[in-house]
Amino acid sequence: MTDEHGPGRVTAEFREVYGTEPDGVWAAPGRVNLIGEHTDYNDGFVMPLALPHTCLAAASPRTDGVLRLHSGDVPGGAVELRVEELSPVAGGAGGGDRGGWAAYPAGVVWALREAGLLTGGAGGADLHFESTVPTGAGLSSSAALEVVTATALNDLYGLGLTPPRIAQLCQRAENAFVGVPCGIMDQMASACCTEGHALFLDARDLTQRQVPFDLAAEGLRLLVVDTRVKHELGDGAYASRRAACEAAARALGVRALRDVPFEGLDATLAELERLGCDAATRRRVRHVVTEDRRVEEVIQRLDAGDTRSIGPVLTAGHASCRDDFEISCEELDLVVETANAAGALGSRMTGGGFGGSAIVLVAEGDADAVSKAVTEAFGAAGHRAPRIFPAVPSAGARRL
Ligand code: ADP
Ligand code: MG
Repeated sequence: MTDEHGPGRVTAEFREVYGTEPDGVWAAPGRVNLIGEHTDYNDGFVMPLALPHTCLAAASPRTDGVLRLHSGDVPGGAVELRVEELSPVAGGAGGGDRGGWAAYPAGVVWALREAGLLTGGAGGADLHFESTVPTGAGLSSSAALEVVTATALNDLYGLGLTPPRIAQLCQRAENAFVGVPCGIMDQMASACCTEGHALFLDARDLTQRQVPFDLAAEGLRLLVVDTRVKHELGDGAYASRRAACEAAARALGVRALRDVPFEGLDATLAELERLGCDAATRRRVRHVVTEDRRVEEVIQRLDAGDTRSIGPVLTAGHASCRDDFEISCEELDLVVETANAAGALGSRMTGGGFGGSAIVLVAEGDADAVSKAVTEAFGAAGHRAPRIFPAVPSAGARRL
């Protein structure tokens, strides 16, 4: 999957597009989130791991202030921009991907310049991208594209940025330039994950810990089930969920829902009712507070060396996403129900919701039967066959 899509091929493609040799080739991965959904923008906890699927970039700097962007995954020639003319309005802020795919890497250059890291005409480059991260599948192809761009520019221009700083600048690009109000998880996962580990991240202060996650050693497999559906509802729902969480935090007088203790949750929900908060908003709060708790539970179980036992916590996380946060959909629920009934240890939707992917924790010996059951259930329900592959915890962004 990543071999024939190696540095050799992307270098050859760069040569074909631009007629010169690239200075180098960089890679940044997509991710799946093990647990901690919609908690990052509530200053809470998340636990993603990087996939072996990566966005590669071959790149060279330019001295004339021109930025050329080409993707082997999108039809059409190179997009040519002047770095000094990059602005969020022209780039498509507000609509989410309105400026087309090039808004993601262009937004990164804009964010580096906004931060004062590239001045004058600096930031020009020729970039050619190729990715094995499925797009729009909830596996963060957008973050991979941003982070590979920032990582390449960091090296080409000797900016000395740390991976967390790269992640913050990429989030700034996606929020302000592309116009997607995402949290910090995806960019942190792509920039900071390490092979064989899940990344425990505190989204408030970006404190992180690499948690060993060696599935094979325990005879386990984590399957990604890409439902290959993306319901339109998703974009507006993300913003409205975020707004509900922020309103509830304001009503409670806390900085973010992360500050609501799990122990006093029932009392907090009663207080919200007294304050006139509607039932849906109270359910949103319950999801966020219990989800942070589930991240801590998963950490404890992994630290205790008991990976199998995280299964029910994943399934409980799915129920919370479905019933309290209301971001699941028929296809994601079908994966979880079918996989668990066929012998999986636990499963849940992963990513923003309304389609995209689910994860399934399963004993190695049961993986084929569970995959088959899910594929058959999709067929019986009249859905397109899902794409199923193992999530092998892989490395974060790097120069190849
Ligand atoms: P996700 O991040 O879950 O895959 P998004 O909707 O956030 O979904 O991002 C997908 C978008 O990112 C695509 O529509 C495209 O604009 C851009 N993108 C991702 N990978 C590539 C690529 N290899 N080449 C060009 N554009 C890409
Ligand atoms: Mg994305």
